[in-house]
Amino acid sequence: MARSLLKLGWRIARSNVTDARLPFKLTLILTYRCQLRCTMCNIWQRRPNDELTVDEIRAFFRKQPRFSWVNVSGGEIFLRSDIQDVFAAITEESRDLYVIDFPTHGQQTERIEAATRQLVGTRVPRIFVTVSVDGPPALHDEIRGVEGSFDKAMETFARLRKIRRRGYRPFLGMTLQAKNVDAFDDLLAAARRRIPDLHAREIHVNLSHESGHYYDNIGLEPLDADRASAAMAAIRDHRGTSLHPVAWLERRYQSLADRYLRTGRTPVPCHAAASSIFVDSFGVVRPCTIYDRPLGSLRDHDFNLESLFDAAGIHDVRADIRRGNCPHCWTPCEAYQTLLANLLPKPRRRLADPIPLASPGASTTSAADPNARARAPRSDAEVPTR
Ligand code: SF4
Ligand code: SF4
Repeated sequence: MARSLLKLGWRIARSNVTDARLPFKLTLILTYRCQLRCTMCNIWQRRPNDELTVDEIRAFFRKQPRFSWVNVSGGEIFLRSDIQDVFAAITEESRDLYVIDFPTHGQQTERIEAATRQLVGTRVPRIFVTVSVDGPPALHDEIRGVEGSFDKAMETFARLRKIRRRGYRPFLGMTLQAKNVDAFDDLLAAARRRIPDLHAREIHVNLSHESGHYYDNIGLEPLDADRASAAMAAIRDHRGTSLHPVAWLERRYQSLADRYLRTGRTPVPCHAAASSIFVDSFGVVRPCTIYDRPLGSLRDHDFNLESLFDAAGIHDVRADIRRGNCPHCWTPCEAYQTLLANLLPKPRRRLADPIPLASPGASTTSAADPNARARAPRSDAEVPTR
């Protein structure tokens, strides 16, 4: 643990002054299958095939064994019958893995508990599971499109909460959206009826976002900035203060959410494609969950991310993102590593400067981008600042 923690600490510190060849955080989508019918996400309408196999996932991690933080997501990852083999491939091939985290809608309690127990039995120091709940029972079921889904999610969470191991924590996760923007208190009360000692800090809060390539939900009803800001402030008060690094990150995320909600711009210079990278369930690499800028397919690069980065002109991609030439977002999946890369104040001019790479070799040819509209800056003068 000490070694992987030191490596992550070093990588975070380095991300404050320069970009490494490869990111330290990976978001890996395992499937676009899902049996819920959420109103804010259309993943469930997809009929995916040709998803990465366990062998391909293992080959990818064998070639990139240095990720410190892996977020696996879906769809619902537990719909993959080989999920335990996937976990084994990730944990066996990753030498520096310090954190693995994943969300679940919590509808397959036995299966989720079994796979989580398997993961908890590994030596990965930090394991975080988030069970999605979007409000008290009736509201949750309405948003998630399946009656009884709240009860199943809470049953799963209660079971996951009984698993004990240092460094392992389950959470509830609420996605704040137009339908539930005022519902945190009701959710907390409903959850406490089932788990009386539940602390507000056990509920993570995210802001709903549009994403064409991921959620397939362009046209999502926007959040009302005033109500969402007020809700985030009230949630912060509920949660109180804690010196735990994860709690600090969450508090910082929530306190900057107000700026994002009011401006539509990411409140700090984004480190997507530098500190983190997104790989979909077919092996297509993009900067993040939101920005539809395909950088290439791992299958075309023999699962070698450096080779794909070179062909995609990663230096230019990072520079574009740092200048704010992207759709902008403020979701914890992307914000946390960006916050960690912005611990040191940076001069504004750095955003327009070339971004030094830790080692040479990056090509300057940009990958074809089928979503030029999404790349257009929202304002031609503005550059996101701290
Ligand atoms: S939000 Fe999650 S649970 Fe809902 S449809 Fe999308 S992937 Fe499924
Ligand atoms: S700010 Fe832009 S590049 Fe960064 S995570 Fe959000 S959409 Fe992606």
